[in-house]
Amino acid sequence: MEEATPGTLRDWGEDAVIARLCAGLPGGPDVLEGPGDDCAVLRTAVPGVWRLLKTDCVVEGVHFVSGTEPCRVGWKAAARAVSDFAAMGGGQPSEAMITLIAPPERSMVWVEGLYAGLRKCAEAFGFAIVGGETSRPPAGCEGAVISVALSGIIAEPGCRFRRGAQPGDGIWVTGRLGGSFASGKHLDFQPRLAEARWLVERVEVTAMMDLSDGMGRDLPRMALRSGVGFRLDGAAVPRSPGATLDEALGDGEDYELLLAVRGGIGEECLEHWARAFPGVALTRIGEFLPQGGGDPMRPGGWDPFQSHGAEH
Ligand SMILES: [Mg+2]
Repeated sequence: MEEATPGTLRDWGEDAVIARLCAGLPGGPDVLEGPGDDCAVLRTAVPGVWRLLKTDCVVEGVHFVSGTEPCRVGWKAAARAVSDFAAMGGGQPSEAMITLIAPPERSMVWVEGLYAGLRKCAEAFGFAIVGGETSRPPAGCEGAVISVALSGIIAEPGCRFRRGAQPGDGIWVTGRLGGSFASGKHLDFQPRLAEARWLVERVEVTAMMDLSDGMGRDLPRMALRSGVGFRLDGAAVPRSPGATLDEALGDGEDYELLLAVRGGIGEECLEHWARAFPGVALTRIGEFLPQGGGDPMRPGGWDPFQSHGAEH
């Protein structure tokens, strides 16, 4: 008999749990990118067109507090998946399937509000909602769970991965980080889909991901995936009003883009950016280095198995 793996999910932490689960998963001839990036990437029958798949969920008491307007919960549930499409270079979502787990006591008004938010996101980003599943939690569990699975496409030359960063590439970030829960941004954020496409078209982006678990956790993930080190200039990290550097690196749920850029971004290009996306910062915050160089892989950010509290 095989020896049982010791420990709990908390002991292991999310990244180690996922690495353990994903080792040796069945693949397929059309799988270009399996687990480990923001979306799975698959070959299609059309040359130069790749399919993106993503699934994501929000849990009451974890990703939103009870009493949050259901329309905002619906927006967040769908926009999180759209943000992962942005992270691949700005893929176009086309179809979504929704799984709703809610206790029988939940009001129809709440569920209709949730769907109003899901529909609003679908209309804003041009995808259909084509099915799903409903169920209930076990007795005694009063929270709802909403899971969104999203399918879509991206043109091969526009697709970016987490694994492409090279030593010497600049580390850039969109927007401002930290305080997403305090400000309510985590419920109302705009996925950076148009921004991702703009950047891929005009700048030599070598790697991209979205910031969902906090820079302190997500930047080391990109570095690890790319086989590089990094040096982060803390003073350059653009912070949300009132946010400390620790909050900017550790709060999570920023839904901004983190990118590796070769050759910098010129003044003229930055001026175009400012005109195209007024109010959205685009900031260089450090540099990728050869593996083993620079900052240690500092722990921080959000881990569903190790972090505490509702609305972490
Ligand atoms: Mg992501």
